[in-house]
Amino acid sequence: MMFRPSAAETMNDPKLRLVDSHAHLDMPEFDADRAETVRRAFAAGIVAILCPADLTREASLLAIAGLSAEFPTVLAAAGVHAHQAKDLAPGHLDGLRDLAARGAIRAVGEIGLDYHYDFSPPEAQREAFRLQLAVAAETRLPVIVHSRLAGKDIIAAIDGQGFRGGGILHCFTEDWEIASALLDRGFDVSFSGILTFPKAGDLRAVAAKVPLDRLLVETDSPYLAPVPYRGAGRRNEPAYVVETAGVLAAVRGLPLEALAEATTANFARLFPFEKTGAGC
Ligand SMILES: [Zn+2]
Ligand SMILES: [Zn+2]
Repeated sequence: MMFRPSAAETMNDPKLRLVDSHAHLDMPEFDADRAETVRRAFAAGIVAILCPADLTREASLLAIAGLSAEFPTVLAAAGVHAHQAKDLAPGHLDGLRDLAARGAIRAVGEIGLDYHYDFSPPEAQREAFRLQLAVAAETRLPVIVHSRLAGKDIIAAIDGQGFRGGGILHCFTEDWEIASALLDRGFDVSFSGILTFPKAGDLRAVAAKVPLDRLLVETDSPYLAPVPYRGAGRRNEPAYVVETAGVLAAVRGLPLEALAEATTANFARLFPFEKTGAGC
């Protein structure tokens, strides 16, 4: 494949500042080394990590709250994922309002629609998405949106709610038409390790067209490890986001440092992480 990541060579470049805009560090895969994983990421030049907690699992919220308390640039979000949409109860929405009121979360998410796995009926997914978009609007938080084969319905829901709070369409895998509709609605577009996969040529073509000031990179850890870490059962982690950034830089004909600087600035515009917390 032509986009051989040169990223690993520059991994210890002290000038490199990257953000992982989406990592599930709450997952049991990180139970043994959660804080150590964050330290490894920081050592590799990652300066902030956004972690979406699963509102239906107390252990998830606690794990992310613990990390945020220890590391001020680990930012928390919370929401009920499309997969768990059928379990959404009014108490979850109250929980979300409470977390927002306490300043414990910076975004509502991840929320959205997944018509690939269909773990919850599509109708339940659309209802959960709509209800949580409404809470985001009410609490004035941006949203972290998941979409799998559901771009048109995502846009219909955003328009149906009149939601104008923006946020991130994470792990983008859809076409340019969906990307541009989301950009028009104030969303930034985040690319995961899928971008490094040999067969992702169409996605790389979309990534080449997103305006530089609206681009983000993420790992979606522990899933979707980028090339060259990809492999059966291989755990992904935030330190590896440099590989996705390397491919994105190559696709756009930019030096990795310029791509890192732009994506980190975009993230900081959405979530001004360096002005929060005492330790950074
Ligand atoms: Zn997702
Ligand atoms: Zn996710």
